[in-house]
Amino acid sequence: MSQAIRVAVAGASGRMGREVVKLVLTDPDLELAAAIARSAGPVDAGRMVGLEECGIYVTADLGQALAETRPDVLVDFTTPQAAMPNTELAIQYGVRPVMGTTGFTPEQIAELDKQCREKGIGGLIAPNFSIGAILMMRFAAQAAKYFPHVEIIEAHGDQKLDAPSGTSIKTAELIAQNRQELKQGNPNEHEILEGARGGYYNGFRIHSVRLPGVFAQQEVMFGAFGQSLKIRHDSYERAGYMPGVKVAVQKVMETTGMVYGFEHFLD
Ligand code: NAP
Repeated sequence: MSQAIRVAVAGASGRMGREVVKLVLTDPDLELAAAIARSAGPVDAGRMVGLEECGIYVTADLGQALAETRPDVLVDFTTPQAAMPNTELAIQYGVRPVMGTTGFTPEQIAELDKQCREKGIGGLIAPNFSIGAILMMRFAAQAAKYFPHVEIIEAHGDQKLDAPSGTSIKTAELIAQNRQELKQGNPNEHEILEGARGGYYNGFRIHSVRLPGVFAQQEVMFGAFGQSLKIRHDSYERAGYMPGVKVAVQKVMETTGMVYGFEHFLD
């Protein structure tokens, strides 16, 4: 039997982090090495997520946790502000980062790829671990070849910090690869209310809806003379991301360099 992969979880007390802790504690292929959250206090990680005591106490300092436990992989669901420093810290310790946290710029991703390659380790930045969302992005990219007029409407809970969502930016990038830059709409269009037309990307628009009660939805809407095509994905709960997180943890053990997008790990 192969050895379990030792995983540290950053943002362990958060909504996503708790699901990851549950996954790691209940999956025989994975072992919890550390659980990090700044304000949870020294609670048992198992107890924190409603499972039996596991003997791993939540700690506040990521660097110290990585130095003391030397895990194989760090799974991070914290905040966009912490994402870059946390990833660099993991790489410094030779720990493969699996970043669910969104908000990286293309320059930061390129820099992290360089750092991973220098260390000879793999890593992943995944705006979305859901297979349905990956398919939505793939189908949207395909459709853009035939329907160049497109807008993206994404909706998330009202406490989300970054806008537009990482998934919508990733979708926009994939669409742009299959479509010449095309400035859509009336050239004399005038926004009476600033922001009404959404964020501008490669000639098209991304709209972010933020409402309590919403989890994660995205619709990619294509328009042409006499027809429209809508490709839509809805996520209803966080547990739906966990099969993807497990695949990511296993794949980063076999790769080198920072991969951007979970779709690269799906055959
Ligand atoms: P959340 O419930 O607010 O949890 C955030 C966690 O991060 C908490 O444990 C929090 O605990 C910790 N944290 C907050 N600020 C921090 C900082 N500056 N440094 C280190 N740790 C910090 O958030 P969530 O809903 O779980 O989402 C977390 C992230 O995952 C967000 O960026 C979200 O957009 C992203 N997300 C990604 C996916 C995907 O599929 N890739 C899916 C859902 C969400 P302490 O404050 O105690 O440290």
